[in-house]
Amino acid sequence: MKISVIGSGYVGSVTAACFAEVGHGVVCVDIDKKKMDQINAGIPPIYEEGLGELLQKHAGKNLTATTDYESAIMKTDISFICVGTPSSEDGDIDLSIVRAATASIGAVLAKKEGYHVVVVKSTVVPETTEKFVLPILEQTSGKVAGKDFGVAMNPEFLREGKAVYDFIHPDKIVVGAIDQKSGDLVSELYRTFKCEVTRTNPSTAEMIKYANNSLLATKISFVNEIGNICKKLKIDTYDVMTAVGKDSRISPRFLNSGAGFGGSCFPKDVKALIGKAKEIGYSPVLLESVIDVNEKQPILMTEILQRKAGNIADKKIAVLGLAFKNETDDIRESRAIPVIAELLRLGAKVSAYDPMAIENMKRIFPTIEYSDKAKDALESADACLIMTEWEEFKQLDSEFEAMKEKIVIDGRRVIKAKNIDYEGLCW
Ligand code: NAD
Repeated sequence: MKISVIGSGYVGSVTAACFAEVGHGVVCVDIDKKKMDQINAGIPPIYEEGLGELLQKHAGKNLTATTDYESAIMKTDISFICVGTPSSEDGDIDLSIVRAATASIGAVLAKKEGYHVVVVKSTVVPETTEKFVLPILEQTSGKVAGKDFGVAMNPEFLREGKAVYDFIHPDKIVVGAIDQKSGDLVSELYRTFKCEVTRTNPSTAEMIKYANNSLLATKISFVNEIGNICKKLKIDTYDVMTAVGKDSRISPRFLNSGAGFGGSCFPKDVKALIGKAKEIGYSPVLLESVIDVNEKQPILMTEILQRKAGNIADKKIAVLGLAFKNETDDIRESRAIPVIAELLRLGAKVSAYDPMAIENMKRIFPTIEYSDKAKDALESADACLIMTEWEEFKQLDSEFEAMKEKIVIDGRRVIKAKNIDYEGLCW
């Protein structure tokens, strides 16, 4: 089957490359010409393990990229909308990019003969596919959904950093369609995947994605709260949660307390669900607390720092880890951002290091000092904060020797070095 993938960010580029890998013909569409040129040249527009290899293998063959909606939609049978759905200022979902992409698809459908299915893969709040995307498609195409074209919602559950693996080896595939025909065509794309397809309606598919992410975010804020209580009681929260995770109803995953969750999904998705709940007259107190705990957690890092180092004005503070998690260059909602902002507010000089995310962080903090190696960031620093669980930080040891004061505050429980003034965030 021939597929067009609208939006070539983390989800779109991985979706396109993986569908090409399983044998479909794929056309990527993005308004960013540079990204399209990169994909056509077999270069990933973002870092994801294994993505480069897949693009090298399929670019120019069964995978092409263009900024031209018309050529892409005309020669494909199914279009996946994979554009961003950021938070608006009040935290609600901002659907303006989905609106623009949908209208562009609809304008081509107006001219296209034959049946076409439009699939929303972007994370959108319940009712969006049927009450927002579908009407825009009908208005802009002048055609009728369910008769002239199909509509479905197929949420994506991949983890950044492991996105290619997760796409090809999913735990679940959810297809929510407005009718049997749309659902059958979308499900058919996944025929070779060793995973059952959960068939449902679009709103249920949308809600599955939010419930999934909200539960994971809740688990993290829960363990962080338990960690904060444990620390005051001088109990090791990792011992506690390791035992708790042995309960088969709980699972050991997502039980590491630390500086909180970031990334492009958990914070914005929990906030979007809060917004949707309020819109329909429900007060989501638990979800609001999940966000509250997460926002306080990074600030605890700087509170510990001030307790140990005193006034940090003009002191050099090394921040190791800028990406929101390891194995990615993505800094969206990284917990390092509020920490660096707070350090700057307190007058500290920040020296930062990350194996992948420096270029992205320079856009937010252009004036702080960046180093190519952890050792250089630590040179004559008065203290160090660990913000990302990079594997290489586990090996750091003699590098701390170069610090002026060997105060190390670990937000991710990764540091193994001895002979430092170590303190964990919740342990
Ligand atoms: P992204 O910001 O990395 O990529 C979005 C892409 O869309 C960009 O390349 C942008 O140039 C392009 N774009 C913007 N306007 C466009 C238009 N009118 N037409 C065509 N392209 C356009 O976003 P992402 O992280 O890939 O997320 C996409 C969606 O998938 C979001 O709804 C997100 O919540 C969801 N999601 C993301 C992840 C993740 O781990 N990143 C996982 C699951 C679901």
